[in-house]
Amino acid sequence: MKNNFPIFQNNPDLVYFDSAATSLKPASVVLSEMEYYTQYSANIHRGLYQISGKASESYDQSRQIIADFIHADSEEIIFTSGTTASINLVAQCWGQQNIKSGDEIVITQTEHHSNLVPWQQLALAKKAKLKYIPVTSDFLLNLKSLPKLITPKTKIVALTHVSNVLGTINPVKKIVQAIKKLNPQTLVLVDGAQSVAHFPLDVKSLGVDFYAFSGHKLYGPTGIGVLYVNRKTYSSMSPTTFGGGAITEVFWHKTILDHPPFCYEPGTPPIAQAIALSQAIKFIQKIGWHKIIQHEQDLTNYLFQKLNSISHLKILGPGNNNPRLGVISFALTKPKSPAPHDIGDIISQKFNIAVRTGFHCAMPLHHLFGFNTGTTRVSLGIYNTPKDIDKLIESLNYTIKIFS
Ligand code: PLP
Repeated sequence: MKNNFPIFQNNPDLVYFDSAATSLKPASVVLSEMEYYTQYSANIHRGLYQISGKASESYDQSRQIIADFIHADSEEIIFTSGTTASINLVAQCWGQQNIKSGDEIVITQTEHHSNLVPWQQLALAKKAKLKYIPVTSDFLLNLKSLPKLITPKTKIVALTHVSNVLGTINPVKKIVQAIKKLNPQTLVLVDGAQSVAHFPLDVKSLGVDFYAFSGHKLYGPTGIGVLYVNRKTYSSMSPTTFGGGAITEVFWHKTILDHPPFCYEPGTPPIAQAIALSQAIKFIQKIGWHKIIQHEQDLTNYLFQKLNSISHLKILGPGNNNPRLGVISFALTKPKSPAPHDIGDIISQKFNIAVRTGFHCAMPLHHLFGFNTGTTRVSLGIYNTPKDIDKLIESLNYTIKIFS
């Protein structure tokens, strides 16, 4: 698998455990961007010349491939710059006209800042109430709290599919059904930043209204993201940014906007990135979900087993007998143990291992469980191997020894 990722040719001994931050890119994705820039680099939907036609066609095909990948229609796919932009688009284009003073927005205590701050700021601006689905001491969402939390005033619930700290997979379908039963008018947005590269998605079957994800965590390029909007939800939204490419007619004092998704994509879009994202999807499809899931599950089991052999290592998240992915955050609790930043620094310098250290854009969640100096996070991708894990454990033992 590593042979598919050119970065390993330039860094043969790199051990990359930060796929939750961004995944590495296979050659087919890198080549796709190069092909666009060297063979048909032109703007889309504007030029009548040949290379513009080819660029437009590839870009449009990419939207269809992405739609098929999550079982949506292509008109339900808005291209953005990433998950953060997708969530902000909903907070603005839907939130501005639907949230009023006294309304309620519900999120969970496990959210990434990108699915917390936009709602917090919207609530502050509109004098709405922000409520949280609590997380239990077992690191799972407390779904028994839903009947109390969801009221006739609940306008939207925004939750993550997979926690980027705990690694937990939330039972989204069950949660959506429970919410819609309590209040059929409540919309549900799911942050799919951490799920989309690890298991197949069917947004229709999940019953969500919005689903957001980033290309760069899906073995695709940076600068491209997706917002799925259930077609019927478009009627309660309107654009908040405007410009060329998003209109059908413009007069001196009025404009006729194009239909969705185009009215939400003013200006020149990230053309090369959108096209290359469809190559990332083809790459995943070529390997097959079955193999990806099995490989990551085996590695997660092995990682758990190995981490448990280190004394005083406390995992922020549930054990692997729960629905979870290979995203494992931990801290060492013995006095004089290395702090997360010490670990990250030493294992990088001495072993060329990349892990994430700190709060992983989830500060309130870390504080809730008393991990006040953050955690070290190991997150797996399809290129990781048991050997990588052995090297990680060796590096952790080395670091602990230095500090003791
Ligand atoms: N949501 C979750 C759960 C994430 O893990 C991340 C990134 O780490 C984001 C949102 C934000 O993604 P992006 O930075 O690509 O917009």
